[in-house]
Amino acid sequence: MIQRILITGGAGFLGSHLCERLVAEGHDVICLDNFFTSQKTNVQHLLGKPNFEILRHDITLPIFLEVDQIYNMACPAAPGHYQYNPIKTIKTSVLGSINMLGVAKRCGARILQASTSEVYGDPEVHPQVESYRGSVNPIGIRACYDEGKRVAETLFMDYHRSNSVDVRIVRIFNTYGPRMHPYDGRVVSNFIRQALNNEDITIFGDGSQTRSFCYRDDLVDAIIAMMNNETHFVGPVNIGNPTEFTILELAEKIIELSGSSSRLIHKPLPSDDPTRRRPDISLAKTELGWEPKIALEKGLKYTLDWFQGINLQDYRPPTPNYS
Ligand code: NAD
Ligand code: UDP
Repeated sequence: MIQRILITGGAGFLGSHLCERLVAEGHDVICLDNFFTSQKTNVQHLLGKPNFEILRHDITLPIFLEVDQIYNMACPAAPGHYQYNPIKTIKTSVLGSINMLGVAKRCGARILQASTSEVYGDPEVHPQVESYRGSVNPIGIRACYDEGKRVAETLFMDYHRSNSVDVRIVRIFNTYGPRMHPYDGRVVSNFIRQALNNEDITIFGDGSQTRSFCYRDDLVDAIIAMMNNETHFVGPVNIGNPTEFTILELAEKIIELSGSSSRLIHKPLPSDDPTRRRPDISLAKTELGWEPKIALEKGLKYTLDWFQGINLQDYRPPTPNYS
C-alpha cells in the first residue's frame, strides 16, 4: 500500500538512500532536513519526481504534517560533527524526538528511531546484545550523542507505553558506502579520501580498536523491514555486519584495494573511543529474517568507485573537525 512517509535527515548519507528506495517503491516521500551535515545534491536526482518533496526544517522545532510513517534519521552522526555543537546534538535527539513523536501521536503514524551502537558506549559485553545496558561516560565528549540517543530510546518507549504510539527502534552499527560526506571525519571516508590522494592515513591510537562495518544497502534493507514488520516487534534491534576488523586492518585493506602509496601515521586516540564493537544480530535474524549480504571488500570497492567519481570541491566541510 502507498504510504505518506516522512524521512527526517532525509538528505544525509543514510536518509538519502532511504528516500531513493521509498520513492522508487511509489511512496509519497517528504525529505526533511536542515542540511547541517548534508547537501541538496544528495537528493537532487529525486527533485523532479511527483512523489518526492524537500522541506528545509530543523526537528528541534515543532512541525505539523500528515503522514503514515516517520523514519527519524536526523542527527549528526560523525564524531567531529556531533561534537561541534554538542548542545545542539542533544537537542536534536531529545527535542527532535519529542517533536517527531508528537507528529506520530497526532497522525497515528508509525515511527522508527535511528538509534546507535553508541548506546553501549565502550562495551564490557562482546559481541553486543540488545539486553546489554551499556557503559557510557555521561560526562565525556561522546555523551552529547550517546546519551541523547539513549534518552531518545526512552522517549520512544514511553510514548509507546503511555500513548500507544507505534514505534520501532533500530541500533545501527558503523555503516559506510557511497554518499558518505567526504569530510565527515569518519574512518571509512577519511581513509578512502586519504588513500585516493596518496596522503598519510591517520590511525588514531595504535589501530587495535575494532569496528564492524555494514554496507549501506544492507542497512537500508533492514530498517525498511523493521518499519514494516507487522509482528509488533518494536525492538530495539541491532543492525550491523557482525564481521569485526581492527582499524589497522581496515587501513591496509583500503590501501590494497586502491593501490595507494599512502603511509600509515598515528595520531592520539580521542577520549572515550570504544575499544571494540561488534553486533550480535541474532534478534534481527529471527525477527526480521535479515542478515547482511555484502562483505567489506565488495562494499569498499563500491565506495572507492563512488569517491573516485566525485569532485571534492563540490563538498563543503560541515565543521572544521575532520582530519
Ligand atoms: P548524516 O550526517 O549523513 O545524516 C544526518 C542528517 O540529519 C543530515 O542530513 C543532517 O543535515 C540532518 N540533521 C542533523 N540535525 C538536524 C536537525 N536538527 N534537524 C533536521 N535535520 C538535521 O548521517 P548518517 O550516517 O546518514 O546517519 C543518519 C542517522 O543514523 C543518524 O541519526 C545517526 O545517528 C544514525 N546512525 C548512523 C550510523 C552510521 O554508521 N552511518 C551509525 C549509527 C547511527
Ligand atoms: N579513526 C581513525 N582514523 C580516522 C578516523 C577514525 O583511526 O581518521 C578511528 C576512531 O578513533 C575509531 C574508529 O576509527 O576508533 C571509528 O571511528 P568513526 O569516527 O568512523 O566512528 P565511531 O565508531 O568511533 O563512532
